Amino acid sequence: EACLKRAKQTTKYNAFITLTRNEAKNLSEASTQRYREQKPLSEMDGITIAMKDNFCTKNIKTTCASKMLENFTPTYSATVYDRLIGAGAVMIGKCNLDQFAMGSGTIDSIYGPTKNVWGFEDEDFYIAGGSSGGCAIAVSTGACFAAIGSDTGGSTRNPASYCGLVGLKPTYGLVSRLGLIPLVNSMDVPGILTRYVDDCVTVLNVIAGHDPKDSTTLTKPYRKISLPSANKLGVKGLRVGLPVEYYSSNLDEEVLEVWEEMAQLLEDHGADVREISMPNTEHSIVCYSILNQCEVASNMARYDGIEFGFRADINTSTEQLYATSRSLGFNDIVRNRILTGNYFLLNRNYEAYFNQALKVRRLILNDFDKAWEDVQVLLTPTTLTTAPKYKEFKNKTNRDQCAFQDYCTQPANMAGVPAVSIPIKLSGSGMPLSIQIMGRNLSEPMILALAKFIESKV
Ligand code: GLN
Repeated sequence: EACLKRAKQTTKYNAFITLTRNEAKNLSEASTQRYREQKPLSEMDGITIAMKDNFCTKNIKTTCASKMLENFTPTYSATVYDRLIGAGAVMIGKCNLDQFAMGSGTIDSIYGPTKNVWGFEDEDFYIAGGSSGGCAIAVSTGACFAAIGSDTGGSTRNPASYCGLVGLKPTYGLVSRLGLIPLVNSMDVPGILTRYVDDCVTVLNVIAGHDPKDSTTLTKPYRKISLPSANKLGVKGLRVGLPVEYYSSNLDEEVLEVWEEMAQLLEDHGADVREISMPNTEHSIVCYSILNQCEVASNMARYDGIEFGFRADINTSTEQLYATSRSLGFNDIVRNRILTGNYFLLNRNYEAYFNQALKVRRLILNDFDKAWEDVQVLLTPTTLTTAPKYKEFKNKTNRDQCAFQDYCTQPANMAGVPAVSIPIKLSGSGMPLSIQIMGRNLSEPMILALAKFIESKV
């Protein structure tokens, strides 16, 4: 009740697309009953959560913040949702995002932008980041304790960074994508947004592990993570890499300071901190964009207004019906990516773009593999700046936004490795600053332990 009340009191931030009041009431009554019988289902029994509105939820509207799916009610639920509800969690609503998760701001939604709670002024607000911005604000406002976002190029870590939260992008394949409406199948992962590292671990322990309905999940059994208390954690001898290519010229002064302070902090506690080189980082954004647009072009083909999605009122020809439904149903960013992706995939361009991008992706992956020969974890900024103001952000073109905002986050998606963003402190102007930790595949226990260590020291 208290969480639903918070959600209602904080509607000005526009975190939610749908509040699932009745479902939440039923779930929490059942949970209360289990506690009365002293039989809670798990650590998450009765805990309120929210989900990004690109996860299918049976009998609950799932819109992707797009006109195309404005009236779509799935007939099945995402595995992540089923596992959380199965563990007793109480979902209170579905959260705002950039249309089909394309963006880094949660500004391109048919439901309007999500506003950051930090530095809030109604007219001149800061963005929440994206595309899982609604999830971040749902947690920030206290409407829920954890939210499930998605992360294709940084969409969980970026809003975590802008909103002062913990944001985890798990190893690709560790968490099922079944029911997560695809953006880029080869990079998408469900992500977790919470206030503290321990909460993030609790959620991960519920959602991770093989799903027979998603052939890209890892079959290796998942071992639940249990982190020691903060005073038992240490970093003595831990080899930490600072990839020099992440010293982007666009890096904000204060972001750079935090990065240096955190490197110093780890060194002071006995870690072996060293600079390393990952030379292909500079090609990563271009490569990401090409692969993203190609997969988008293929994924979006299903929305033709007949099988799925919004149908325009056209009776002249089938061709015209498709065209009008798609041009009215998608925003310009989605249409742009479909067109560009199809261009890259043309017979005459396939080699030069798609295949070439796949090769560059391999080089980026090799950079990571090489890094692991030297160091155990990488420490980098998450975002280049603190949250921008809406007015400034919306004036940039989407291409700029992408190149700028995702610089430090998307390499982890290209390589599939886990990455977590944690809040460090506030900037001079009072906005959250963060740091990102990356590790090799399935190193969640290590990067989350390090995250908890840093969390306890700042
Ligand atoms: N900003 C990136 C994009 O628009 C990341 C999106 C995401 O992670 N879902 O593609």
